[in-house]
Amino acid sequence: MTATTATELPEHPRADVSGVAVSVDHYIGGRRVASPETFEDRSPLDWAWKLADVSRGDAEIAARALGTAADAAPGWAALGPADRGVLLRRLADLVDARAAELATVECADMAMLEESLRLRVIARGARNFLAYAELAEGYRERVWSSQGTRNRVIRRPAGPTVVITPWNAPFMLSTWKCAPALAAGNPVVLKPAEWSPLSCSLLADLADEAGLPPGVLNVVQGIGEEVGAALVSDPRVRRVSFTGSPETGRLIARAAAANLVPFTGELGGKGPLVVFADADLDAAAAKAAAMYDDAGQVCLAGTRLLVEAGVRDAFVERLFHHVDRHVLGDSRDPTTTVSPLIHPDHLARVAGFVERARAAGDTVVRGGRVWREGGLWYEPTLVEPRSNDSEIVQEEVFGPVLTLQTFVDEDEAVALANSTAYGLSALVWTSSEERAQRVGRALRAGTIWVNTFLVRDLTAPFGGIGISGVGREGGDYALDFCSDLVTLQILEGSTDRLEGPTDGEGGGNG
Ligand code: NAD
Repeated sequence: MTATTATELPEHPRADVSGVAVSVDHYIGGRRVASPETFEDRSPLDWAWKLADVSRGDAEIAARALGTAADAAPGWAALGPADRGVLLRRLADLVDARAAELATVECADMAMLEESLRLRVIARGARNFLAYAELAEGYRERVWSSQGTRNRVIRRPAGPTVVITPWNAPFMLSTWKCAPALAAGNPVVLKPAEWSPLSCSLLADLADEAGLPPGVLNVVQGIGEEVGAALVSDPRVRRVSFTGSPETGRLIARAAAANLVPFTGELGGKGPLVVFADADLDAAAAKAAAMYDDAGQVCLAGTRLLVEAGVRDAFVERLFHHVDRHVLGDSRDPTTTVSPLIHPDHLARVAGFVERARAAGDTVVRGGRVWREGGLWYEPTLVEPRSNDSEIVQEEVFGPVLTLQTFVDEDEAVALANSTAYGLSALVWTSSEERAQRVGRALRAGTIWVNTFLVRDLTAPFGGIGISGVGREGGDYALDFCSDLVTLQILEGSTDRLEGPTDGEGGGNG
């Protein structure tokens, strides 16, 4: 274990976030570790509300966390999927039991709507642990004969895994990535984003309470370019699992490549929402209006509205009907539907996109202003671009800003939908099954929804095309990524017994 001056420091007092005590320190090797330097964490609900001064990790903290993870790796791998599953199920139960506290903290920290956090998002975090525990237990080694040999595919834990997550939906996205790594037998070092670090600190508490062995789940806090960069370039890391922007994805992929370490990146999105004239226009418009929920800070959102020309006016009328029902306000209030943006810098970034669009000749049809000076809300905004090349069409805004374009036929719809460098998600509204199949297959996106949105089976592959991502997560795809797949080949008749198929326990399944 690497010595560090930080080990000498006493823990900082826990922050009180609306009555929930949250550690502001790292969690390494089963205990809290403080850094001498801290960074400020404020609430987007009221920027004057300082939530905490959080320990600011550095290269020493990164090295210490990875050393601890590496020490824990053999024991965690040796437990096997069933025993790991017992602990992960216990962790899932604790997440469910503490959903209200987790929701309170995450709402204060990143302003996602509290009710939706409590009722859906945190529960999905718990389900991630359950689903991966079950999938890892259910793995069956593939056994077959070929060229006089018996072949067997063994899944072995890959080793220490670094998980780096963004500020939007930090708890859910972190569990989505930690769960497969842990279930596969890998110890994890998780670094949440510096703009919303607190719910992942609670996850460390719950892992502790669930009885995960020390060093199996470590959480380090800090700035991406500092502790994050140190983590991903450490040669002890065996897997890097990242969710965030394409720009950071490129940097992290480069660091992983230097150590020849497999990397998955779930990156940005600029999804089309394609509405055909044969669609249920009201349902499509209602879903389009829902893209403003959580202030549009959703990577999977369909932010480019592409509407068949003949129904443009009818669609816009219905869209505005639904947008009129949005309530901007405090995310703790159950009547609020549009939250503030995460940070003043992000608000300025979003506003900057709209200002540049205006200046370039795009038409701001609705919204386009900061709501309530001094707050971090931005009005639900609709822009009709002068051209498909407009920046606001081509670049991810990650705020409550949609664009509206029309098309005359299916070919044009598909061409426009596929015309950005992104390829994370796409939404289509049509009542024709043939069209759903045809257009769905033609769209360049990792997930394509027809007449629905955000419905996901956790066993389905998930990821992006183009600058939206590298690799696939979800179900067995994530477990394979977290594992070394090894082929064991034995010459038939050369040993004293014939091997039968394995039940997946032991037998190298880690
Ligand atoms: P970001 O890329 O700025 O930061 C993400 C994480 O990377 C943070 O924890 C940050 O501290 C860390 N980081 C920054 N620089 C680093 C470095 N040099 N080395 C190591 N770590 C570093 O992204 P963000 O602004 O937090 O999140 C918004 C982005 O995330 C959007 O582009 C959004 O579309 C994307 N996103 C994608 C998905 C998906 O599933 N595809 C999900 C959510 C968010």
